Amino acid sequence: MRLLSIAALLLLTSLRAPGEGHLIVLVSIDQLRQDYLNRFEEDLTAGGFWMFRERGAIFTNAHFDYASTETGPGHATIATGAYGKTHGIVGNAWYDRQTRRSLYCVQDTTTTLLGASREGRSPRLLIGSTIGDELRIGSAFGSKVIAISVKDRAAILMAGALASGAFWFVDSTVVSSTYYTASLPEWVRRFNAAGHINSYYGALWDRALPEARYRRLDRDDAPYENGGSGLGRTFPHRIDGGSPGTITASYYAALRASPFANTLTVALAMEALEAEGLGTRGVTDMLAVSLSANDYVGHAFGPHSHEVFDLMVRTDSLLARFWKHLDATVGLEHCTIALTSDHGVAPIPEYISTRVPGAGAHRVDFKDLRSRLDARLASLPPPASLGSGWIEHVEGDNIYLDRHAVSTAGLSLDAAGRILAEELGSLDEVFAVYTRSDILLSPATTPLERRVRNSFFESRSGDLVIVLKPFLLSGTYSTGTSHGSPYPYDTHVPVMLAGNAIRPGVYDATASPADIAPTLAVALGIELPSQHTGRVLQEALLHADRRLER
Ligand SMILES: [Zn+2]
Repeated sequence: MRLLSIAALLLLTSLRAPGEGHLIVLVSIDQLRQDYLNRFEEDLTAGGFWMFRERGAIFTNAHFDYASTETGPGHATIATGAYGKTHGIVGNAWYDRQTRRSLYCVQDTTTTLLGASREGRSPRLLIGSTIGDELRIGSAFGSKVIAISVKDRAAILMAGALASGAFWFVDSTVVSSTYYTASLPEWVRRFNAAGHINSYYGALWDRALPEARYRRLDRDDAPYENGGSGLGRTFPHRIDGGSPGTITASYYAALRASPFANTLTVALAMEALEAEGLGTRGVTDMLAVSLSANDYVGHAFGPHSHEVFDLMVRTDSLLARFWKHLDATVGLEHCTIALTSDHGVAPIPEYISTRVPGAGAHRVDFKDLRSRLDARLASLPPPASLGSGWIEHVEGDNIYLDRHAVSTAGLSLDAAGRILAEELGSLDEVFAVYTRSDILLSPATTPLERRVRNSFFESRSGDLVIVLKPFLLSGTYSTGTSHGSPYPYDTHVPVMLAGNAIRPGVYDATASPADIAPTLAVALGIELPSQHTGRVLQEALLHADRRLER
């Protein structure tokens, strides 16, 4: 019955007459590679993605111009128009030298969650303003800025420090943080009380299109897919966490990796829209939505899977329903919509290696790299033989040296870094290793070096940054895939804009998700985010005077 109530919610159209006001709608689809729009183009017929063809600007060559292509940095960049180098979100996590611990990008122990008893979350580690923050400042806080996602980091970083609220999912509950407010708004409590998140327990995810449409993809039962949380590798996927009869934590993991997580997210966004009267209050409001299921499904099944294709078809329909709902409640003529993603994804290494074994696509475990590094260093004379003992922490591709151990060995940080960089750089899997001083003191000579620099923040990044060769996947999983490299499969994402101030067209010029915030700011006549480095996409702006010339 509850499945029906969610479906009814999605079809609901408000009777409220559109008022004067404006709404910025920022949609991020987590792990949406640009090439999905090209490869799946003919099956995306619902009008979700291609709404932008009719009324918007489509940038086909947009890249995150930085190395750490992860969810935290991506959403921070979309909202601030800046890169980790200036907004400070250099990864989903980084190492904090003071506390000698990994720091999660939205961690904040001075706050608590509303709706769940877990450690608090806030945007305190994000440096500078987002477009939402500028909207709030510019309107004397009359504008509302609300962000919604399954993931805390996506919602919080898209919203910014001055947002009205950010909401995300923890198991069966939509939660927020005491950073924003003292209690959950009524519409969130209502959503939780209705039990929507648990209502998909036992639901079946089957193909949306006839099976023949899936045959040009990889096989559905590819052994390198991760069918965990009871999902299994092939359609149909039962969403019960592998535990029939009882809801466990595994159910929520399965739900996140299913189209139903996106359905719930958009349903909650529609509730926010209605309850808060967004876009109809005589000011400009902002609603940011990040759809996380695409990321979980992509990690588990890979970019060439039936599941990713099916989810794209379903995302297209869901977006079409969302646009329709926006039209009915706010009026599309009162909306400026941007759609993008926080990063792409690498092909599953075995997708390549089972076809071309000699091409060398494979997984790289950093523990294995470390032990081979140790073996090399042990054969060197002191103090270089101590080298691996200088490593205090490894976080992703950042290596943090033990500064005390290095100085005890009588070396400068740079000299120790060079010894390690040379040995690491001679390992087969490694494309390049950059030391802190390479990054801070010498100019980039290649686009890749520029990307490494754009992800580097002095007090948060490591003393060495490793870049693996393309198509190598770091991590300890034996199935599925990931992202986080500076290569196009991770950096190339859609950037699409629609609204009265947008000049429709397809643009092949180099662009970036970092261009969205400054472009929207100029289009709407609000201040640009404080740290922005993205350019204003002038070619896609229809200025008032140009409109008059027509
Ligand atoms: Zn992501």
